[in-house]
Amino acid sequence: MSKKTFMVFFAAWSLALAGYSQVFAQSTMSADVVVVGAGAAGLAAAVTAAEGGAKVIILEKMPAVGGTTNYAEGIFAVESRLQREKNLNYTKDWAFKYMMEYTHWRANARLARAFIDKSPETIDWLEKHGLKFKEPAANYPGGYMTWHIIDGRGKALAQTLYAQAQEKGATVLMRTAGKELIKDGKGRIAALIAEDAAGKKIRINTKTAVIATGGFINNKKMLDKYTAFGPDIVPVGSSGKTGEGIRMAWAAGADAFGTDVLQLYRPGIPGEGPESHLNAPARQPYLWVNQLGDRFCDESIIFSWPYAGNALANQPGRVMYVIFDENTKKYMIEKGIDVGVGVMVPVATKLTKLDGELQRGIDRGFVFVAPSVKELAAKIKVDAARLQATIDEYNSMADSRQDRLFAKDPKYMQPVRKANFYAMKAVPFALGTLGGIKINHKAEVLDKNQEAIPGLYAAGNDAGGLYGDSYDVVLAGSTLGFAVNTGRIAGENALKYIGK
Ligand SMILES: Cc1cc2nc3c(=O)[nH]c(=O)nc-3n(C[C@H](O)[C@H](O)[C@H](O)COP(=O)(O)OP(=O)(O)OC[C@H]3O[C@@H](n4cnc5c(N)ncnc54)[C@H](O)[C@@H]3O)c2cc1C
Repeated sequence: MSKKTFMVFFAAWSLALAGYSQVFAQSTMSADVVVVGAGAAGLAAAVTAAEGGAKVIILEKMPAVGGTTNYAEGIFAVESRLQREKNLNYTKDWAFKYMMEYTHWRANARLARAFIDKSPETIDWLEKHGLKFKEPAANYPGGYMTWHIIDGRGKALAQTLYAQAQEKGATVLMRTAGKELIKDGKGRIAALIAEDAAGKKIRINTKTAVIATGGFINNKKMLDKYTAFGPDIVPVGSSGKTGEGIRMAWAAGADAFGTDVLQLYRPGIPGEGPESHLNAPARQPYLWVNQLGDRFCDESIIFSWPYAGNALANQPGRVMYVIFDENTKKYMIEKGIDVGVGVMVPVATKLTKLDGELQRGIDRGFVFVAPSVKELAAKIKVDAARLQATIDEYNSMADSRQDRLFAKDPKYMQPVRKANFYAMKAVPFALGTLGGIKINHKAEVLDKNQEAIPGLYAAGNDAGGLYGDSYDVVLAGSTLGFAVNTGRIAGENALKYIGK
């Protein structure tokens, strides 16, 4: 044997050996239903399937269950017992029509209908499993009281369903990520490959899989490729949402849907804690300018987060500045803010800590203070004459109590006249992504021919179909509602598929 032939033979033999040991490093398990992701959607699917007698394995890649669900406060429903007790007579038909009109019929109508129809019974189901609710509320001034506030918030929901899943016999593999779906010769789900924290592969033989990994808000490449908001949108309350479940389903032939929809939150200063008084001025409906020094919206759309995020996404560099003067600062400190910033800094909070926190904002490059508009413009790198013209026009409209440009309610027209002058830099925030895998009203994953992939289901933030181009905050609690309801629907249909 020549030296060259030997080298080729040796390389091939080494590769074969590596593959061989790989196969043997892999352990094998089996289940009726494998659920990937232990948030609201995955846990609802797991409890449903386990209650129906299926052998369930839940994979959760983090060291704790709950994902983004832990941060939620309330869940959508209409025609619930709790609403009836408050004489709130929202109907399923009304909610369906509202949703389809809001999305300009870009939502998947049958999926929206299935979710809405199931929603009141899901509140009963959650109560039956031990969850307690406070009164339904709205999440928006003038919004609808469809938000069923959970006693103990989303964390209680996740923990309750987690306990139920275990009680019903489900196996939970923590720090174990779903990686790949395997289909048989007929295109049916046959197995799923998972990987534990040590990198060990586990093959789980199964006829069904429910993908519920919570979307891709922490994946900059996917954000850049699939959304209009760029890679640097600030994720709130999410970690590890890298779109693994979505990419796994796509690799198995799933069609894509709604990948560009984000759950936009109010623009603000990143990295400020929930008790910060610095973020509040950056979220008030006073004068906003873009990097050119121009106004670009009715600033009171801050109440409707998706609108504010959409307007900001169209601005150069997706950056804006909230401009105010010494009088407005005094107003926020002595009278209180017009827009609350979470439960720790609610509406009307007097920003007594603001002066003490300004230096932190300056050091972090998000707060700019100057004795003149000209010097402020230099600090934020905006053309001084253009900024001055914007301020002059705004002041004249504030004096006449009429916003001739964007028709903002005059109560938010604070003139900008008295030194010092302040600029708070704000960037877009999002609570998550709201699409990726195309599903039908049975939560079955569809392929590119719009046929269901046998045995494959998706739920929650991984699934597209509930929104058009924008998330809706008026029909409060819809994303958590979609997660729990599509999770239950997926669990029920997986049971039917395996004949349970
Ligand atoms: C601050 C905040 C407040 C919110 N408040 C509300 C509210 O009041 N009402 C409302 O309707 N919505 C609210 N939302 C949105 C709501 O929480 C989500 O839409 C919902 O929880 C999504 O549920 P999910 O099960 O799809 O995803 P998640 O709850 O995020 O669960 C996904 C799980 O999958 C795991 N995972 C990821 N990849 C893998 C993998 N490869 N293998 C295994 N596991 C994996 C994750 O670690 C995670 O545990 C809020 C969001 C935030 C951030």
